[in-house]
Amino acid sequence: MDEIGRFSLFSGWNLCSHCKSPPVVHEVEGVNDQEKHLANKLPSCSKCHSAAYHSVECQQAHWAGGHKQDCKKLQKAIKPLEELMGWFHCDNDYTSWLSMDMIAEFYADKNNELWQRGVKEWNYQNYLEAMRIFQSYLLPYKRAWCAKPDTVAHGKQSFYIKEVIGTANEALFCMSALKLAKRLLFCSYCEMDGEQVESARQRLVQCLSLLVTIRQLHGSPNDKVKITMDDAWMELALSMEEVPSDRVIARHVAKMAVTTHSCNWTNPLQRPGFVAKVTLDAIPFIPRDKHPNWCKHIESNWEHILKEYQTLAMNDSRWHDVGSGVRGTGHDDHMVVTGRRWTEYVLFGSGSIENDAPITKKLIREHLPDAVSLAEMGGGEVIFSRLEGDTHINSHCGPTNIRWTAHLGLIVPRSRSDCRIRVADQWYNWEAGKVLLFDDSFEHEVVNDTPEDRIVLLIRLWHPQLEGKNRLEAMMKAIAKKEENVVKRYHPAM
Ligand SMILES: [Zn+2]
Ligand SMILES: [Zn+2]
Repeated sequence: MDEIGRFSLFSGWNLCSHCKSPPVVHEVEGVNDQEKHLANKLPSCSKCHSAAYHSVECQQAHWAGGHKQDCKKLQKAIKPLEELMGWFHCDNDYTSWLSMDMIAEFYADKNNELWQRGVKEWNYQNYLEAMRIFQSYLLPYKRAWCAKPDTVAHGKQSFYIKEVIGTANEALFCMSALKLAKRLLFCSYCEMDGEQVESARQRLVQCLSLLVTIRQLHGSPNDKVKITMDDAWMELALSMEEVPSDRVIARHVAKMAVTTHSCNWTNPLQRPGFVAKVTLDAIPFIPRDKHPNWCKHIESNWEHILKEYQTLAMNDSRWHDVGSGVRGTGHDDHMVVTGRRWTEYVLFGSGSIENDAPITKKLIREHLPDAVSLAEMGGGEVIFSRLEGDTHINSHCGPTNIRWTAHLGLIVPRSRSDCRIRVADQWYNWEAGKVLLFDDSFEHEVVNDTPEDRIVLLIRLWHPQLEGKNRLEAMMKAIAKKEENVVKRYHPAM
């Protein structure tokens, strides 16, 4: 029963929402780094649980500076999660929000014809009509969820889960719940794409409540349950990341997903769509004293690289907006930019051409064959990256943990506080001629509030622990996963 544990919201806030600085670290003897981190975390806003502060002064200033409005929006977005928690915290004797009658009815396929009619409309590409049918099919379940019993009023609508364990009803429940969960998930995809975000999130929460219950009944996870659960958490987290004011809530979602051993996530701050099976060290930012040797070779030649950038900078036709589809990966990247433009020039990877930047390319080929091979396989690229002044790259996670990212600073605005990058819970600065090395599957964001451009040579390379045949295997799986996700979105659950 304890396999999953109880849901709680993310609480490890480590940067003040007002002054953006970390907590004052109190040294405590005999505790490890993780314990120290927890001991020093910041207290969060008791209403939205998503802003954190050093002091009452920081909180008051943040409240007056706009959190008053944001807090309301955050509370609204977080409500589904609180409902899931509330339902799940009903104690050991927890109840199902579905009545046994509904499950029996569902199992007997009483209303199946309606769902199948929706599938038919979908296959005729009448998507709106299909969604309308799916929604009306799911209406009784939505009502049951909204009327879900508190611990006192239990009895009429629902049953104690423990009452079905080991009975014929248990199998009935599990089979029906999984099927229903899949339909809820599919309907939420439709609604998400149709911008009915609130309803979609609500359905994902219902879907998750069913799956968690199945997992509680069966100690060992069933593959189909796990896959559906991963998909639902992922969709919920992504829906939070897409809405700027809800972005921090993705951490709460990820915290819950981690509790249910989903998505292969272990840290709410690291939420890639694909996590390699091989265990890879999860290090958000690699400090200079741990840099591999190639960094030195690249750094000592940085002025040649800068010169080649300056030549190519003139050639407007070869610069493209990030995410404009010119290169093979990163098609959603444009969604995270606000302000002016984020553009790139591809050196290795799809969209690159021969005979440009000879010195830079020779350096990369010689010292970083790992980056070239990753680019050739379509898993990343080497580019000149230009972030214009007054532009932000909003907080997001990269698609996979199988690669690292390096930035060689080429032209860097002087203001350290107005031009910087956050990886996980710390801010860093570029320096001309110096490499920053990090794992972009961790939450990261970039701000350039200066009037000047920030130019770096961006290099993706294999995670250093991924070697030999593991590379190809991880890459094939990452690609397959991505394709599966697209297929799932367009094929209704049966
Ligand atoms: Zn502060
Ligand atoms: Zn708040």
